[in-house]
Amino acid sequence: MTEVSTPLCTFSGHWEPATYLQARGLSKSFGSQQVLKGVDLSMVEGSTTAIVGPSGSGKTTLLRLIAGFQQPDAGMIELKDKVVAGPGVRVPAHKRAIGYVAQDGALFPHLTVAQNISFGLKGAGGRVGRRGIELKIAALLDMVSLPAGMGGRRPHELSGGQQQRVALARALAREPKLILLDEPFSALDAGLRVATRKAVGDVLSEAGITTILVTHDQGEALSFADQVAVMRDGKLVQTGTPFSVYTMPSDREAAEFLGDAV
Ligand code: ADP
Repeated sequence: MTEVSTPLCTFSGHWEPATYLQARGLSKSFGSQQVLKGVDLSMVEGSTTAIVGPSGSGKTTLLRLIAGFQQPDAGMIELKDKVVAGPGVRVPAHKRAIGYVAQDGALFPHLTVAQNISFGLKGAGGRVGRRGIELKIAALLDMVSLPAGMGGRRPHELSGGQQQRVALARALAREPKLILLDEPFSALDAGLRVATRKAVGDVLSEAGITTILVTHDQGEALSFADQVAVMRDGKLVQTGTPFSVYTMPSDREAAEFLGDAV
């Protein structure tokens, strides 16, 4: 996922990648527990960032703030130079052009694969006719390497990896500019995890979609992302390329955590 971004020509004449996401000073508390303590994160358009860190360190909360499911107590979020969250500003989740894929895919169990995917399409404004939706479902299934015939099945008839691909297809149906993947591969067994990760990575890379991956798997982070952000106790303690984070961890705890990758 290293080919990045829409380049911008600056006044100095250099080509620079465009920033897609800017989060500054994000804080969030639940009751008396401060879960995020001033998080800054910047992402280049089309790039992939992996957020790693121990359970409970605030990774999912950060994703939920970016997605618009929750509002930060302090700080701001910009998407493509537009403030979507901050003091007095809260752009609702469905207007942020963000796709969210959770750990278990969270498909609607009573709907078919096609209905799960088209649920997203109808939500996108209802402008697409029935035939248009059918074509789009077929294209999305193809994109995530699932046969068109799978559209009539229900989630419980699919393997875990297939369900995650459907969840990705459903997220892609809304044509998001940013995809948030919250440990989407962790429920899969090792072989399937690698294959699904590769398939998902290829689709997102091909589509040039800016991606955040939350993962417990350090090897996954180092292989999947352009940028790795290490979160601990509500703070991003280090952000950098996989190489720099792995070879020059900011402190001993980060080194021990990342050391599990080998
Ligand atoms: P991670 O994804 O790194 O495991 P989370 O962001 O899920 O961490 O959770 C960080 C902390 O915030 C945890 O202690 C969790 O219990 C708490 N938390 C998260 N969401 C809520 C909520 N809606 N209400 C109360 N506490 C929450």
